[in-house]
Amino acid sequence: MIISELLSEATGLLESSSDSARLDAEILLCHLLQKDRAYLITWPDKELDSQTAESFQQLVQRRQTGEPVAYIIGQKEFWSLNLNVNPHTLIPRPETELLVEYILQHYPADRDIKLADLGTGSGAIALALASERSQWQIIATDQSNEAIKTAEHNAAQLKLNNIEFRQGSWFQPLADEAFDIIVSNPPYVAEHDEHLTQGDVRFEPQSALASGADGLNDIRLIADQARQHLHADGLLIIEHGYDQKDKIFDIFNSLGYKKILQLADIAKKPRVTLGYSPI
Ligand code: GLN
Repeated sequence: MIISELLSEATGLLESSSDSARLDAEILLCHLLQKDRAYLITWPDKELDSQTAESFQQLVQRRQTGEPVAYIIGQKEFWSLNLNVNPHTLIPRPETELLVEYILQHYPADRDIKLADLGTGSGAIALALASERSQWQIIATDQSNEAIKTAEHNAAQLKLNNIEFRQGSWFQPLADEAFDIIVSNPPYVAEHDEHLTQGDVRFEPQSALASGADGLNDIRLIADQARQHLHADGLLIIEHGYDQKDKIFDIFNSLGYKKILQLADIAKKPRVTLGYSPI
């Protein structure tokens, strides 16, 4: 079969399970051929041998069951860094770049900053910041040993060596250290939310998604304990769900955080809350 036929067949098969069927098919074929998308557009009539066509059809079948493209190809782009991902790590989402953007805009490269990224997963936030701020001291934690290994592997591949990775839950591996910035994309989905049993997220680690009855258990803990780990005027900045804005404002406010600000993503949904150390 030729490239264009394989792609239209796969797109048809994926249409009912994915809202980006054509793109998914192209990414899977690029991965298999180790070529970029321009290649597929330039050579639509290229004949592929039957073994390649069969391997492609197997990848498409995996995608049909809902397995995310990022896990099938083992990669996801974040902040223009190519990251290895696997089922031990959440797949980085574009909205998480909001956290990175705010920090970069407010903390210039010539400031000496000590930063903690809690629940780093594949390392996305820490690696994006390290790629822009080579002189900062960055510590990234995760309770999952497999996630830490993945993040370390990403750092090595990207040759970013100003991050120290530590395994442990939230502040546990940080003893009594203090930071200028604490950033986190914690789990924040309510544990019985039906969203967790649908589509691609079924393949992602529940521990990176769900957090107690209202989704706020980990955010409450982080906001509470961060006060003991922030320098004067230190920043706590976290991602959350679009419908948690008011509850998270109240959490930050009742814990004494100052200059609380809430940021919206490109869909104009409130997705980030930040505040400065009360002490
Ligand atoms: N945004 C993710 C989702 O909706 C949740 C990510 C998280 O809990 N940090 O699936």
